Amino acid sequence: MPKFLATIRNQIPLTPYAYRGEDVPCNLCGSHHKLTVSQTDRRLKTLKTVACQQCGLIRTDPMPTDAELDAYYAGEYRLDYQFAFSKRPPRFHITRSQRDAETRLRLLEPALSGQKRLLDFGSGSGEFLALAAKAGHKVQGIEPGESFAAFAREAYGVNVQSAVWQQVEFAPGSFDVITSNHVLEHLREPVSALKRMAQWLAEDGVLFVSVPNALGKRRHSFQHFHFAHVYNFTPQALIWAGLVAGLEPDPRFRNDGTTITFRKRKEGEAVPAWGEGQGQWVAAHFEPGSPLRFLLSGRWALDALRRFRKVAGDSFVRA
Ligand SMILES: [Zn+2]
Repeated sequence: MPKFLATIRNQIPLTPYAYRGEDVPCNLCGSHHKLTVSQTDRRLKTLKTVACQQCGLIRTDPMPTDAELDAYYAGEYRLDYQFAFSKRPPRFHITRSQRDAETRLRLLEPALSGQKRLLDFGSGSGEFLALAAKAGHKVQGIEPGESFAAFAREAYGVNVQSAVWQQVEFAPGSFDVITSNHVLEHLREPVSALKRMAQWLAEDGVLFVSVPNALGKRRHSFQHFHFAHVYNFTPQALIWAGLVAGLEPDPRFRNDGTTITFRKRKEGEAVPAWGEGQGQWVAAHFEPGSPLRFLLSGRWALDALRRFRKVAGDSFVRA
């Protein structure tokens, strides 16, 4: 299906996405037990989301297969998700990304004295790498989206490997600082990816992770969910994911909700166990709500308009 038609199809409320998916265990604790938290996503399309009954990590169920996600990212993703009509990242995206890069670099200041070896895991269009390189650091990016990776190389002259993380090899301890900004929620195996990043990290290195907060404020529960976000984290689930990967929050940094800078945990320390019934607690947070009433109230159209105006506003800010 042409990209544009697929994008239109993806906007029609109360219809499913074109995928079959598969049943997978929780990537954090391995449990198959799950509780449904939502039947629709933020566009009111049919999309089932579950919380792992044991640890409370939230995921799409059934989980899109690698092939289905590859097809989505190769096809309508940029248009669907970032309103990118051409291969070049849109102005509003670059503006936001630059703003975000400045915030991230400021936050990481305690770890950035002298020249550091820095990896941006999921480097997108490269604004963070460009800023860090300008500050004197040795930077490297990984980005599976070929067009954004190419843009980063051409526009900023930074080193970006265009690959999925499973294909990338670095020697253990290769980086002093690794950042992963709004990436883990897109991965089918986010905890496995964290483990890999922990291996690439130097003994005294730090790993910055930011993902959307599944417990963050939204008018309706279903407004948290999106087809591109196959996992959703509560702050506690992100900390547990870090612990399982051999990490712990580093108190030198401002750790807020699901934006956490980790350091390596001391060898031999046991991972604290999570109590029973985390899934119940998480599921109770998500009200069943009434997507249909929301649709009929016209609020979804107002929300869509607000999103569009925000994008349009950012598009006219000079980059
Ligand atoms: Zn779990």
